[in-house]
Amino acid sequence: MQKRRETVYSLGLDLGGTNVKGAVIDTEGRIISQVEEATPPGKEVKEIVVCLADMIERLASEHPEIIGVGLGSPGILDAERKIIRASPNFPSWSNVPLIELIARYIKLPLILENDANCFALAEHRWGAGRGCRHLLALTIGTGIGGGIIIDGELYRGSTGAGGELGHISIDMNGPKCSCGSYGCIERYIGSRWFVEAARQKLSDSSINSPKDVNILSSAGNHAAADFIAKQGELLGIACVSLINIFDPQAIIIGGGIAELGDPFFRGIRHSVNERSYLKLASEVKILPADLGTKAGALGAAALGFEAGRIK
Ligand SMILES: [Zn+2]
Repeated sequence: MQKRRETVYSLGLDLGGTNVKGAVIDTEGRIISQVEEATPPGKEVKEIVVCLADMIERLASEHPEIIGVGLGSPGILDAERKIIRASPNFPSWSNVPLIELIARYIKLPLILENDANCFALAEHRWGAGRGCRHLLALTIGTGIGGGIIIDGELYRGSTGAGGELGHISIDMNGPKCSCGSYGCIERYIGSRWFVEAARQKLSDSSINSPKDVNILSSAGNHAAADFIAKQGELLGIACVSLINIFDPQAIIIGGGIAELGDPFFRGIRHSVNERSYLKLASEVKILPADLGTKAGALGAAALGFEAGRIK
C-alpha cells in the first residue's frame, strides 16, 4: 500500500574501504533504519556498483517513502559531473562515473559527495555544530578529511573538490605528503604518522594506535600526555590558519584521534590562543564530533533530500 506522501525519507550511504554504511532518515534527521555491510574485497567498480545498487533497492522497497539517495565516498570527486576522480580506498579507480553506473539499476535521484563533506554536513545539522552557521569540520583517521560550512551551506569549491583541510602545510620543509606537498598537517596527525612519531618519542615500539598512547596517558604517563598535547598544538597551528581565513563559530574534530580527549584539545586551544590574529579566536568553539561513525551516512542522507529536491 502506498504511504501518504507527507512522510518522506532519504537514504544516505557511506562508502568506506572496509564497510558500506547506510542510514534511512526522516526530515528531522531521525534514523529510521541502519545497515552495514562489508565492502566487496576486490574493490572493482562493477562489484561496488552492484553492492550499492542492491542496498538501495532493498532499503527502497522496505521504505517507499525514500525520495532520494546521497552517496558519500572518500577521494577527489567531481560532484557536479558525478565522477570519482581518484580515491585512496580504491587505488585502481580513475574518473569513475559512479552515479551514472548505479542509475542504470536505480530510479531514485542520486547525489555524490565527498565523505568528509558528508561528515561536516551531519555535524552541522544534527551534531556538535548544531546552531552554527559557519563551521569547519575535520575528521582524522589514516588521512584527514575536511568540510567547510559557510552560512549554513556546504562549500564545495569550483569542481566539488574543496575542503581538503588536512593538506594545510605547517612546515615548508616538513615531510613529504601523499598529495605532493610538504609538511601537511595530515603528515603529522594522520593516525599512521601519529603512531610512528609516538613510537619514536616514547621509545615504545608496542604502540599501534593513537588509542594506545591515550591508554598510557590516562595511566599517568606524563611523556604520553605531553606527546598528545604537542600533537594537539600542531593541529592547532592549522586551525589558526583556518580561523584567520574563515572566522568560523566552531571547528569540529572527529575520527579516532578526537577520542584523545582533554590533553589533545587543550593543545589545539593553546596554539589557537597564542597565534590567532583575530581577537575573537578565543570565542571559536573547538569541539569533538558528536555523531560517531554514523555521521558520514547521515550527511549523505541530508543530501539525499537535496537530490529529491527537499531541503
Ligand atoms: Zn598533503
